[in-house]
Amino acid sequence: MKKLAVLTSGGDSPGMNAAIRAVTRYALYCGYKVYGVERGYIGLINDEIFEMHSRSVSDVIHRGGTILKTGRCPEFMDSAYVKKAGENLLNREISNLIVIGGDGSYRGANELAKLCDVNVVGLPGTIDNDLSYTDFTIGFDTAVNTVLDAVSKVRDTMTSHDRVMMIEVMGRACGDIALYAAISGGAEYVITPEHPVDVEALAEGIRESSKRGKTSNLIILAEGCTAVRDEISRVVAEKVGKNVHYTKLGYIQRGGTPSNFDRILSARLGVRAVDAISKGENAVAIGIKNDAVVAVPFEDVFKTPRRDNSELYRIANILSL
Ligand code: ADP
Repeated sequence: MKKLAVLTSGGDSPGMNAAIRAVTRYALYCGYKVYGVERGYIGLINDEIFEMHSRSVSDVIHRGGTILKTGRCPEFMDSAYVKKAGENLLNREISNLIVIGGDGSYRGANELAKLCDVNVVGLPGTIDNDLSYTDFTIGFDTAVNTVLDAVSKVRDTMTSHDRVMMIEVMGRACGDIALYAAISGGAEYVITPEHPVDVEALAEGIRESSKRGKTSNLIILAEGCTAVRDEISRVVAEKVGKNVHYTKLGYIQRGGTPSNFDRILSARLGVRAVDAISKGENAVAIGIKNDAVVAVPFEDVFKTPRRDNSELYRIANILSL
């Protein structure tokens, strides 16, 4: 009997459940016995592995979070624990594993593939969109929509009071959430780790635009740029004479029902992950490039340079003038 296990690891993202569902149902369709692992690599080490059926993934497609739970597992940095995890799978004659997670989870998945006789395939589950081998990760679109919803609400109060507002969004070292939300939310300024910010010029821009009749300004700040937050507040206060009202969106960006885009992405990538297992592909990550589903070796994933988003950055700056 062919067997396959699936787990979610690292930060949760909306669409992980849709991916678990796609993997489970398509693998069952392909004749696999399917297993879920609880809390990522923690459950793999602790042998928390259980059989899944079609009904195990009923009524989950619309839910954020992950029904398999997720976790961070420092022990997995130690090869002895990686081998133990592999043994737990092989003791049940499970020689295939699909890992849904981000960059860190992929590094663990790659170690498992190297050290154990287990075929491992990755699915990109993270809101950060910080895996450049794929155009989009599962959960990113939903997170941007959540930010947009918040931007609309903040705009109401911002324009009523003629304020300068700053919204800090997630994304770790990647500025994509900030950039996409800035363009689609019509923010005046976006600050991302990929592009240096000139704080003096930003404040000057706010001062100049007020002469043209712009009475309120929205700045979207990526998580990777929090170091400049206080400086922006200080310089804007000095040059413009206005306080910068600051909102950190935080964990609401991780939750909520996944968007149509993330559900379709989960379905397409989940199916391809099972096909990869069936073809004997090992240590590869599934992604989407130019709307084609691709399988990229983990080693190449780790070497892929950061996606160039300077064209989007240029658009964001021009359209906000
Ligand atoms: P994400 O997958 O969202 O990037 P983390 O970076 O927290 O989240 O990684 C998730 C888990 O992956 C870690 O808790 C650890 O168990 C495992 N992991 C991360 N990096 C490595 C590594 N270099 N070697 C082995 N396992 C790793």
